Amino acid sequence: MAPKHADCIALDFDGVLCDSARETAVSAWRAGRQLWPEWSTETPPAAAVARFLEVRPWLETGYQAIVMMRMIADGAPDSAFAEDLEGHCQRVLAATGRQRQDLVRFFGQARDEWLRRDEAGWLAAHEFYPGVVEAVRSAQERAEVTVITTKQERFARALLESRGVRLAEDRLYGLERGRSKTAILGDLMAHSGPSIRFHFVEDRAETLRQVLAVPALADVRLYYAAWGYGTPADLAWARAEPRVRVWSLDDFLVFD
Ligand SMILES: [Mg+2]
Repeated sequence: MAPKHADCIALDFDGVLCDSARETAVSAWRAGRQLWPEWSTETPPAAAVARFLEVRPWLETGYQAIVMMRMIADGAPDSAFAEDLEGHCQRVLAATGRQRQDLVRFFGQARDEWLRRDEAGWLAAHEFYPGVVEAVRSAQERAEVTVITTKQERFARALLESRGVRLAEDRLYGLERGRSKTAILGDLMAHSGPSIRFHFVEDRAETLRQVLAVPALADVRLYYAAWGYGTPADLAWARAEPRVRVWSLDDFLVFD
């Protein structure tokens, strides 16, 4: 179906719309209990959650948080998260005899169980950034708003709907699509008319760098969400990159 609006706004979810870091730490810990039964408590130690909030910038996809909680338990330094998270993921898989898909499943199951048992508590473990819900709802009246996330779609949808934001099936792309954000942006552009302006808002500098590297995405307008999980180095990079506009919360979805 041809878009009704002249703009398509693609939004990342975690770190742009919603701060889910505390919930991620708890769900990751509960998923990790399937691998490490010595994690005997239902919720992680407060110090482990606090450390997770510090290392959250290096998380790319939810299930990696299980490995990060293991690294936290082992006292890993920042550099291990910044430079060798993938290596740690590989070593955890080898040591536990599991596949990546198992970790994805454990993480999803931990969330599903929390959501089923205590929906109000699960929703309350998340915090939408101030003003973003109102801004998204208002943007939906003048643009095609699409959410592209590495979260599983049902969780992003439940959170958005809890705040009155409804997205059509083809306006939410999550982990289960198995496609990179650059590939999804490319598909969205391919299925829109040439006159549609594309905007992409993201708090992960590496993802913006991936978009910058794709010639077919040269016309996508890029925004770095400075309130998200990025590091000071990410912010400095975004400020220096001519194609990226740095947004603070006050600028969110305000176009000139
Ligand atoms: Mg993000």
